[in-house]
Amino acid sequence: MKKYLILLSVILIFMGCQAYPDFQSDRAYQYLIKQTEFGPRVPNSNEIELCREFIIQTLEENGAEILTQEFEVTISDSLYEGINIIGRFYPRQPRRILLAAHYDTRPWADKDSNSENHNLPISGANDAASGVAVLLEIANLLNEQQPPEYGIDLVFFDLEDMGSYGSDDNWCHGSRYFANNFPIKKPEKAILLDMVADKDLNIEIERFSYHDSPALVNEVWDIAEDLGIENFKRKIGLPIYDDHVPLLEIGINIIDIIDFDYPYWHTIEDTYDKCSAESLGSVGKVITKLVYQK
Ligand SMILES: [Zn+2]
Repeated sequence: MKKYLILLSVILIFMGCQAYPDFQSDRAYQYLIKQTEFGPRVPNSNEIELCREFIIQTLEENGAEILTQEFEVTISDSLYEGINIIGRFYPRQPRRILLAAHYDTRPWADKDSNSENHNLPISGANDAASGVAVLLEIANLLNEQQPPEYGIDLVFFDLEDMGSYGSDDNWCHGSRYFANNFPIKKPEKAILLDMVADKDLNIEIERFSYHDSPALVNEVWDIAEDLGIENFKRKIGLPIYDDHVPLLEIGINIIDIIDFDYPYWHTIEDTYDKCSAESLGSVGKVITKLVYQK
């Protein structure tokens, strides 16, 4: 009996030591699948509107204060409506962490090996839904658990994926609008998540992030190492023009967590079966610890 009491005490002490909640990987994966079930979330579509409603509803259910930013851009003579969504937790807390992802999906599968598919929209399971899924699960944790030391802003960018290859011009409209019209208090730390659900997840250090925010890169990669999460590789990878760049340009301490080595990128095969709950969990657990650590 005494043996069991000692074991129980050890378990309780161990549980008490974990000062941050468990990221629920399966719930995050369900959020990913749910987005793909709306269909492709391309700009100006009914499907992207359904996705917006889903994001806002999930944030509201978890107690966030919602802000939206509406803007318009013209791309190749077509007018597109964009809406950034911001879910604020503990809005009066002065110290803040910002977590971001884009939620729009590319209207053209123009990297598909079959050229007949190049004008079809992608499902965008990894390229869009994955980052949103992690953020929505973080919203659950913020609702269910004791508040962290930081206030958290979850930011969902629109109109990221409309660009032309080889030019920076028509990518990342939502984050550019956000950076130029910063609607909230500036964060101490910010993380962008993009393409984080590949079953074969290998996250190298994105080069712009390392150049401008090396301390935050080290902090995040150290957390991954402490947790024994081996998907984070200590290797400087490619520079990727993503939603973090407009924020870096205005001096925000932000890094991009992205696995750009994904064979289904911008193809009709970017579907939920290429993604996994485990991969979402690897990233989600690292972000949860960043949010909750003292
Ligand atoms: Zn994309």
